[in-house]
Amino acid sequence: MQSLSSKIYKNEFVSTFQGDESGDSTPRQTPGVFYSKVLPTPVKKVSLIGWSEELAQELELEKPSEQKDIDILGGNFVAETMAPYAACYAGHQFGHWAGQLGDGRAITLAELETTAGKTWEMQLKGAGLTPYSRRADGRAVLRSSVREYLMSEAMHYLRVPTTRALSLVTTGDMVVRDMLYNGNPQEEPGAVVMRIAPSFLRFGNFEILAARKELENLRKLSDWTINRYYPHIQGEGEAKIIAWFSEVLDRTATMIVEWLRVGFVHGVMNTDNMSILGLTIDYGPYSFLDNYDPKFTPNTTDLPGRRYAFGKQSSIAYWNLGCLAGALAPLFSGTEKLAEVLDTFESNFYGKYFTMMGNKLGLDEVKEKDITFFTNLEKFLTSFQPDMTIFYQLLIDLPQELKDEETVITHFQESFYQELDGNGKEKLFALMKTYSERLKENTSAPEQSKEQMRQHNPRFILRNYLLHQAIEELEKGENKLFLELQEALKAPYSRNADKFFAKRPGWANKKPGSSMLSCSS
Ligand code: AMP
Ligand code: MG
Repeated sequence: MQSLSSKIYKNEFVSTFQGDESGDSTPRQTPGVFYSKVLPTPVKKVSLIGWSEELAQELELEKPSEQKDIDILGGNFVAETMAPYAACYAGHQFGHWAGQLGDGRAITLAELETTAGKTWEMQLKGAGLTPYSRRADGRAVLRSSVREYLMSEAMHYLRVPTTRALSLVTTGDMVVRDMLYNGNPQEEPGAVVMRIAPSFLRFGNFEILAARKELENLRKLSDWTINRYYPHIQGEGEAKIIAWFSEVLDRTATMIVEWLRVGFVHGVMNTDNMSILGLTIDYGPYSFLDNYDPKFTPNTTDLPGRRYAFGKQSSIAYWNLGCLAGALAPLFSGTEKLAEVLDTFESNFYGKYFTMMGNKLGLDEVKEKDITFFTNLEKFLTSFQPDMTIFYQLLIDLPQELKDEETVITHFQESFYQELDGNGKEKLFALMKTYSERLKENTSAPEQSKEQMRQHNPRFILRNYLLHQAIEELEKGENKLFLELQEALKAPYSRNADKFFAKRPGWANKKPGSSMLSCSS
């Protein structure tokens, strides 16, 4: 275990690729480079309010006690062996090409190598201006930082592929935000999260090189990414890149299926927010589903088209992979091979989706007729919108022998936001009859099937209204709920946090930040 300031860091991205060395953070286009070197802008006073001890242990880092170490987490001190930079990338935002974007408020400090030889990129989010800040301020507010800090860790413990968060600090500075974009800017406390991932490379890092026709750079970044992060992919030339693209597609499909399993809506699936490692990245106006509504988008900016709604996430992932394929196309003599791989998305996704649904329902195998059942269940959930998490928890405890309709309805009552009508009751009873008959075909013991369900259906989810309450408290200097949530998220499949096992309360339905959020952070 070492302190943050005494570690010797690596900087392989910086030493491998061409960068803009000027250190100038004036907003500008940066053709020909992969990143711009830039130092974090110091803040008033860095105070540590969140520390992920388990992650720190994996990184062999001591919890900082001296101000010098705490200062690293807020950008007020940069260790000698760090070479901070902001990466240059582009992206398709809401279906349109947006050109150069880049790390506008994220600054990678360095890479950390553990004794086991694993390397981790350490990035500060909210650390000040970079050449990619465009018209914004390079800062993050406490509200959005708490959300990213807690949620990326929550996703990790849910077993969803994700970037991690090591720390959350306040900066002592105030940051102005128009939370609802309605002409009411307000001062909010500033904060910085230190994010950790093997790499924060996105689809957009490849898209920008293709758009700029920097072919050699595109080849170099692709090769490096494969060799470093997909070392098992051997071969050369087109075959190697195809194998890699195929695996990016596979990992992306896995990530989406995991989102659907736990009811996660990302909210801003632009291609600059798509990790090349298939990790959930850039936590903004995300949400878990409370009531099961596939059309739900937590992002107020997304309301007109609901492009990033819960139920659309697989087709958007496919669309985004199409953008990545387009970016890699210049490395091929024709587009056929990329198109062929892209065509595998649907079957790849559904294969994983059906397996996941089988696990959620405690089936020991997925039969043809189960797929019809999944569809019928989905239709029921969509029509009557029970709380997704509570509904599946109650399903685990469904008695083996169903009595009558009334008993079954009472069993699920707690999960509904509105009383079921006659039609709803009839449908639910019919579904549960089919389901309990189907469970009898399982060759494994009932208890084993229940355990399978417990492992795949979270009992604790970090609901938006809980985050909202924790943030309101923190803004008043009180961290009780924040710490409780930080603890609860570590065991989401247990009953440890049953005090939070409840539907979204009525007051949270329309309150900004408790249900809907904007990108403003
Ligand atoms: P996001 O929607 O958070 O993924 O951000 C899209 C782009 O806007 C990225 O290039 C971000 O770096 C940039 N951006 C977002 N917020 C800020 C901010 N407060 N200051 C500078 N750049 C920002
Ligand atoms: Mg982003």
